[in-house]
Amino acid sequence: TLSTLVFVNSFSFRSIPTRALSKPIDPAGWPDRFPAKEHCSKCGLCETSFVSNVTDACAFLGPGMARIDEMESIVHGRRRNLDDMVWSKKMSRSSSAGAEEEARFGVLQQPIRLAKGNDMDNAQWTGVVTSIALAMLESDQVDAVICIANTDRDNGDTSWASSEPIVARTAQEVLRGRGVKPALAPSLRVLDEIQNDPSIRRLLFCGVGCAIQAFRAIQSDLTNLEQVYVLGTNCADNSPTVEAAQNFIKEGVKMDASTVKGYEFMQDFKVHVKTADSYVTKPYFTLPGTIADSSIAMSCRACFDYTNALADVVVGYMGAPLEADARMDGSFQTLTVRNERGAQMVQTAVDSSRLILGEVATGKGSHEQLAVATITSDALVASMVNQTVPKVGMPGWMGELMAFGMRQFGPKGLNFARYSIDYHVLRNYLHILDTWGQERADSFIPQYTRYIVDYYKEIDTEFATLISA
Ligand code: SF4
Ligand code: SF4
Repeated sequence: TLSTLVFVNSFSFRSIPTRALSKPIDPAGWPDRFPAKEHCSKCGLCETSFVSNVTDACAFLGPGMARIDEMESIVHGRRRNLDDMVWSKKMSRSSSAGAEEEARFGVLQQPIRLAKGNDMDNAQWTGVVTSIALAMLESDQVDAVICIANTDRDNGDTSWASSEPIVARTAQEVLRGRGVKPALAPSLRVLDEIQNDPSIRRLLFCGVGCAIQAFRAIQSDLTNLEQVYVLGTNCADNSPTVEAAQNFIKEGVKMDASTVKGYEFMQDFKVHVKTADSYVTKPYFTLPGTIADSSIAMSCRACFDYTNALADVVVGYMGAPLEADARMDGSFQTLTVRNERGAQMVQTAVDSSRLILGEVATGKGSHEQLAVATITSDALVASMVNQTVPKVGMPGWMGELMAFGMRQFGPKGLNFARYSIDYHVLRNYLHILDTWGQERADSFIPQYTRYIVDYYKEIDTEFATLISA
């Protein structure tokens, strides 16, 4: 009968993808064999038996990052306040009040504040993430920590190596997570190991936003777990592979990648690069525009979770002050505590003297103008609208002058973070609009990014033109 046919067809339609996807996908097939294709962030979920949940869990399939809106309530007990978005033009409160803004920074259990790791060698920064993870393990509040570690080092050697997830059960293993390089890494690849080990009942998962979104979606299926803590990092513009990150150092910064122990895009508008015996800074403006395309993964161009909305506590640096001539491994970072579990993790690290807390974060300066200026001169945006992308950057002296001027007159502290969030939201919205079209783009983004896009459409005709291009 017709109804039988409909039933058979709809059954087949639903069951085929599930069967086909229940087998873990071989990482060698990345990205083409992964469901999110070129936008796959290699989070690791599809390399496990949990691949059967991919349709609902992947940050880049279906409603994608728009799921954050609903998931916040499940994870933190409430959604973020969307009515407190700070615009410097309209700012009537004191600058420190900005540390309580939820619309951009996500659910806050307390104002964003500064922090440093205490006496942690060989970290990328001062070791805030490693300090919290170590404190949780050493105080016996968790049985294991999932973190990304360099595979072929175990005692402070920060040379380039492929970054792989590990289930760390000892302090020595957690320490292998220091100073990993900014390239996509499959944090969730160890999910089956967790599921099959009954000795792990209390877990700390460390990860970036896209991996945490997938983790939160399957967390309740990890049936052995009684307690789960999630420690996140702010994250933007990761390289697709370790090789691409090395190429950025070689072709972009013009240094020998084999000597580099860490690098970061900093608030003084310069890339900071650490080697064993030097600390080099290069103004952003001296980098060739063409290096952006190979250095930034496609997933990160479709990402709207810079602030890691679903972690219990988040470590970042864009909202922290940077003193003149300061190094990344001597500077404060920011702590965003989203709920009681996050507060407990921070307190544990403070009690164990591994973490030093600073002041509540503050910010000043207008961030909107710079966000618009960055978008209109951005290499990725230029290639979307078929403009020429510069093959060489500014001369060194001119780049230094620009960086100096921006530092004097541009946004600082939390307002630098606002600039960076807004810029990435706008650039990435243009990317998904260009790649997926209006309907999918608009159903893919979380609510807070809608407010940002709408605001800039209203205040800036150039951005409005780019959107309609
Ligand atoms: Fe699978 Fe993660 Fe890639 Fe999505 S991002 S396709 S869940 S590996
Ligand atoms: Fe994932 Fe977004 Fe970070 Fe890219 S920028 S690794 S997509 S959280």
